[in-house]
Amino acid sequence: MIKLRKNIARMAGYVPGYQPEDPATYIKLNTNENSYPPSPKVIEAIIAEVGEGLKRYPDAASRAAREAAAELYGFPPEWVIMANGSDEVLNNLIRAFADDGDEIAFVYPSYSYYATLAEVQGARVKTFGLTEDWKLKDFPKIYDGRIFFLTNPNAPLGFTFSQTYIEELAGRVSGTLVIDETYADFAEVTSLELVRKYDNVVVTRTFSKSYSLAGMRLGLAVARPEVISALDKIRDHYNLDRLAQAAAVAALHDQEYLRETVVKIQETRQWFCDQLGKLGYTVIPSHGNYVFATPPDRNGERVYQGLFDRKILVRHFSDPNLAHGLRISIGTQAEMEKTIAALVEIG
Ligand code: PMP
Repeated sequence: MIKLRKNIARMAGYVPGYQPEDPATYIKLNTNENSYPPSPKVIEAIIAEVGEGLKRYPDAASRAAREAAAELYGFPPEWVIMANGSDEVLNNLIRAFADDGDEIAFVYPSYSYYATLAEVQGARVKTFGLTEDWKLKDFPKIYDGRIFFLTNPNAPLGFTFSQTYIEELAGRVSGTLVIDETYADFAEVTSLELVRKYDNVVVTRTFSKSYSLAGMRLGLAVARPEVISALDKIRDHYNLDRLAQAAAVAALHDQEYLRETVVKIQETRQWFCDQLGKLGYTVIPSHGNYVFATPPDRNGERVYQGLFDRKILVRHFSDPNLAHGLRISIGTQAEMEKTIAALVEIG
């Protein structure tokens, strides 16, 4: 008899966005990847790492990458941890702070994987909805759960919480406030300064979006050294392989390439939103590399299907509060022009 833990037997598991077997035949705008390639310097660094050296374990502390990230963000290296995708560090934050039966919370809608990770740990999950002016509904004076996850910019909606509001929340969360900045490179703001100012604030980042490295699985967190030490105890000791460490260092050192790519995406985002507006779509102004757009007939599924039939993949959520719209990643200008042409056809 297979004796699973009850919570594992009960849980459904997270379903990531659809990854087709033949992605090259699609315009792929469904998982907020970056359509531009990684920096040529990153490819060079990975290739340089391929060879006999792979017979040795990687540096267990990912020191070079930590130092590069620390320098970029202006923190000592003891304030940074590297991760095998930011998902890994989100998982380890829950493992570090939430015991069986403890509560964690996050914003609804945002990244539902927090709930999956909490379920694995046996933690309870609470969500807080949003007001019209992008604040949290019914957020208590003091939230006393173990962790509150704030995705900023919000995914899938794309707005940002104001920095004053986030700072206010840092004071209202008695546990740890994790600010998930997966999409922050596409926005104008970051809460990294709050990590210095408040001992309960952690910021997570990823290389999957702005650095075009979703396939490398690279992320990081910036937090107080006490938190970083705890996370270091929990993670797999060799969590980043040699190729990932080389890629991380090269990517962090090539800020010029990052900026160029981000600017291209921001410009295309503006163009795409203008075009959607002309087609009668309602679009939430976005600070990420995606937009949440609602067609005039509020039938997100119909448009999703129309795009799918034309080999354009976007994300449709069956959640009744999101089903009217679509989350569309911002690809290259050419991809978005084709998407607009398809939307005109679909009507
Ligand atoms: N947080 C949010 C809000 C995300 O959208 C994603 C990617 N889908 C992640 C975290 C995880 O990103 P990764 O593990 O690729 O770094």
